[in-house]
Amino acid sequence: MEFRDLKKQYRVLKKEIDAGMQEVIENTNFISGKQVTELEEKLASYVGTKHCISCANGTDALTLALMAWDIGPGDAVFVPDFTFFSSGEVISFEGATPIFVDVREDTFNMDTVKLRKAIKKVVEEKKYTPKVIIAVDLFGQPAEYAEIRKIADEFQMYILEDGAQGFGGEINGRKACSFGDISTTSFFPAKPLGCYGDGGAVFTDNDEWAALIGSFRIHGKGSFKYDNVRIGMNSRLDTLQAAILLAKMKAFTDYEIDKVNDVAKKYTEELQEIVKTPVVLEGFLSSWAQYTIQLESKDKRNGLQAYLKEHGIPSMIYYPKPMHKQEAFAPYCGEEEELAVTTKLCERVLALPMHPYMEDEQIHQVTGLIKEYLKP
Ligand SMILES: *Cc1c(COP(=O)(O)O)cnc(C)c1O
Repeated sequence: MEFRDLKKQYRVLKKEIDAGMQEVIENTNFISGKQVTELEEKLASYVGTKHCISCANGTDALTLALMAWDIGPGDAVFVPDFTFFSSGEVISFEGATPIFVDVREDTFNMDTVKLRKAIKKVVEEKKYTPKVIIAVDLFGQPAEYAEIRKIADEFQMYILEDGAQGFGGEINGRKACSFGDISTTSFFPAKPLGCYGDGGAVFTDNDEWAALIGSFRIHGKGSFKYDNVRIGMNSRLDTLQAAILLAKMKAFTDYEIDKVNDVAKKYTEELQEIVKTPVVLEGFLSSWAQYTIQLESKDKRNGLQAYLKEHGIPSMIYYPKPMHKQEAFAPYCGEEEELAVTTKLCERVLALPMHPYMEDEQIHQVTGLIKEYLKP
């Protein structure tokens, strides 16, 4: 069994994907071809933002947002302690200070009570200026933006939505990647909407930031490519990747999001009595980048993972280490008692195979083995 079956997806979408790639190769417009603009327009219209600026990966997308806001030394940026490294890496990369915030045990997303507390503390200490909240849509479920917006307004901060895993998710019908002042996503192959290499995008309604990000991503270009008005980077989305994403988008919007929600529902029905299953809040829709269960101890978790592996079932530990325990962040360690939930989750979580092409039989095979292993 595959953890995320990209081979099967390719078999289903082969005709469209091959045709899209062939066209790019025949036209040899590998950089900034028309497919890139076409994709950006489609993505912006799907998400419901005025602008979409594609770029080389989801990490650059976050960096470009921080560059547009001129975030740097002396600024504090708040980010969940439980996320992929890159959500925090970009903060230090810009010379700002990451402040790690604990998450909710049921949704895995930022705990807004602890967020407010952490911001207040930084304000009182007067060492750094709170500037940005990076809210992560972990495992596919959007963060709690209504509450996060209140907090951002109260402290006059920006919201950067890291929707790398959240693309396709919703809150009350509004799409993920539209909740931040700037929002970003990643098209890494295993993300909800993935290309065949690295790719990313930035979303915003703000004209000025969109123009800045458009410039930063191509060497700080001015009126044309060889007119450079600021220091930027080289972070474009390849035309080939844009063509692949265009071919995949129809399936993604037509049925893939529904399909992963079916799979999640079946998992939860089968497993909710024996392990802690993931909670999706009222009015929220997850794009199920991961389906993550919690076991009662690290031993049980590791034991179950080994047992599944013995039976040919892959599973993953996202994430084995809290951000504040990463060696790279050693100078910015948070306070242990404030980050207790993340620490606990890192020992107990296990992500199960999840993708839109999973058959009922495969779901039952996974849940059957879990039941067998946990049988009293
Ligand atoms: C994957 C991921 C990123 C980074 O995306 P890349 O395209 O791999 O650079 C950032 N944040 C989160 C939460 C992610 O899962």
